[in-house]
Amino acid sequence: MSPETLVKSSPFSSAEFDEYVMSTYARFPLTLVRGSGCRVWDDQGREYLDFVAGIATCTLGHAHSAMIAAVTEQAQTLVHISNLYYNTPQGDLAKWLVEHSCADRAFFCNSGAEANEAAIKLARKYAHTVRNITHPIIITANASFHGRTLATITATGQPKYQQNFDPLVPGFHYVPYNDVEALKSAIADLDRNEPQVAAIMLEGLQGEGGVRPGDRAYFQTVRQLCDEKGILLIMDEVQVGMGRSGKLWGYENLDIEPDIFTSAKGLGGGVPIGAMLCKSHCNVFSAGDHASTFGGNPFACAVALAVCHTLERENLLANVQARGEQLRSGLIQLAQKFPHLISDVRGWGLIDGLELSSDSTFTAADIVKIAIEEGVLLVPAGPKVLRFVPPLIVTSEEIDRAIAAVDRALTTLN
Ligand code: PMP
Repeated sequence: MSPETLVKSSPFSSAEFDEYVMSTYARFPLTLVRGSGCRVWDDQGREYLDFVAGIATCTLGHAHSAMIAAVTEQAQTLVHISNLYYNTPQGDLAKWLVEHSCADRAFFCNSGAEANEAAIKLARKYAHTVRNITHPIIITANASFHGRTLATITATGQPKYQQNFDPLVPGFHYVPYNDVEALKSAIADLDRNEPQVAAIMLEGLQGEGGVRPGDRAYFQTVRQLCDEKGILLIMDEVQVGMGRSGKLWGYENLDIEPDIFTSAKGLGGGVPIGAMLCKSHCNVFSAGDHASTFGGNPFACAVALAVCHTLERENLLANVQARGEQLRSGLIQLAQKFPHLISDVRGWGLIDGLELSSDSTFTAADIVKIAIEEGVLLVPAGPKVLRFVPPLIVTSEEIDRAIAAVDRALTTLN
């Protein structure tokens, strides 16, 4: 069947859609109906190169044969049971993740925010029960992003996500990212009378905060401080994990091991799943402490396991590294062509950012709008940063096409 015959017209105009769906998103006027590889089609049959990938989520692109096989087979076998019983895909996925990370145990849920909630609860229970801290505090970074639930908007170091949602959850403190001295003085201050700092929670590369990679020396010091003081290090791997950084986990780029880390987005390749993993020394959860009805359901776990196996079988980390290099060198060439418009190019693997200079008169969203007309989907990370997060299967030709579209958009806006 050709793509054209599969495409069905959407029954909804965007105005009608907004009559039924809450307007919590500023959407581009595009209804996407089908995907294959790194391409998606809208309801008019128009093709786009997808460098958004569900925001760093569709690891294997769209309609990958391994995903289709896992979805079909598991749907025919067992979709959901209660966590009152054991299920094989949950055990298999936990085993794979434990064998391919620094962690010893996994807890499954359904999203990144939920995984971070689980990490926050685990760190608090550890502080109460192991360290006798009565009012545990978790330090997070300015410009971080950890989710949209109440605890995770509080953990998020961006006030715009917290506005009008107070009272927020107590027990969080913010420090500038990549700043050793600020972190040391915050810990000294908070622990002045009695130990309070339970955990430090960081992204190895800040995604929503503008594609800002962590500094290796900074993270080395963070790990050392945590070891000295018994503080837990939580790494939020929701956006950067599952191979996107060119390593399986973002923390590997920083040569550290967290005590706890969270994964979601790319883990399910587009099927909702979240995971919170920890080393055995901080595995203080016991039966009844935490739960999720859908968490670890056989369907999501079987699909996530297929994503993991495909990463290995197709040697996708090598593709991420090679295509990431190609993407960054293409963006650097654009920065050389438009030095007055572009102030920085940065990223790891296939999570890369192009920052517009402060005197550019337009925003990253303006580029995104023109790129849509050029047939390429991109996503901003803040007002002045254009983010590139294609599926990890992206080809050399597709990288070139995306760069050419940004080139044309910059030429138009210049
Ligand atoms: N942590 C990070 C680093 C993220 O980028 C996101 C989503 N952008 C989340 C957590 C929240 O994930 P979810 O939307 O699945 O709750």
